[in-house]
Amino acid sequence: MMTGILALQGAFAEHAACLARLGEPCRLIRKPEELHGVDRLILPGGESTAQRKLLETTGLFSPIRELLREGMPVMGTCAGLILLAQEVAGAPPCFGILPVEVQRNAYGRQLGSFFVQGQVGELTDVPMRFIRAPYVARVLSEEVEVLNVTEGRITAVRWRNCLGLAFHPELTEDLRLYQCF
Ligand code: GLN
Repeated sequence: MMTGILALQGAFAEHAACLARLGEPCRLIRKPEELHGVDRLILPGGESTAQRKLLETTGLFSPIRELLREGMPVMGTCAGLILLAQEVAGAPPCFGILPVEVQRNAYGRQLGSFFVQGQVGELTDVPMRFIRAPYVARVLSEEVEVLNVTEGRITAVRWRNCLGLAFHPELTEDLRLYQCF
């Protein structure tokens, strides 16, 4: 299985390093041709507004949206979760595939970033690093499975082939979420 990692901006190299540790092949995606032969996608954290602009200018927006609509498995972390969400509070959606509403920068200033360990789905003691993280303000379908709630806020969801995480698994040593994905 070839994993494509959107590599326009943000923490894509860290995701690639995690997959390398698992012995999984991956390809950094910067232009549409690079999507050929990709079986699943990772949308990294970073700055969702910058990523949206780059998706348009590189011509990647439409082909990725098409692949996601066809059901390609995807893991979106932090800004990646924002890109996947059907609704983004105060802004238009990007791919609009994952039936949740997200609130951006929910933990306020960068200084509000924090680290906790907790349950994510079946996994226990998962290290979770939040950096100006969004959270899921509303779930828009009964099919959405809530995998984690931290400080009263939904931070991890699964819907069909989509895994949406408000935190950064690529910035920890724990590879279990990649294995699940
Ligand atoms: N605050 C960022 C955004 O809105 C997301 C932060 C992150 O990916 N670490 O895009």
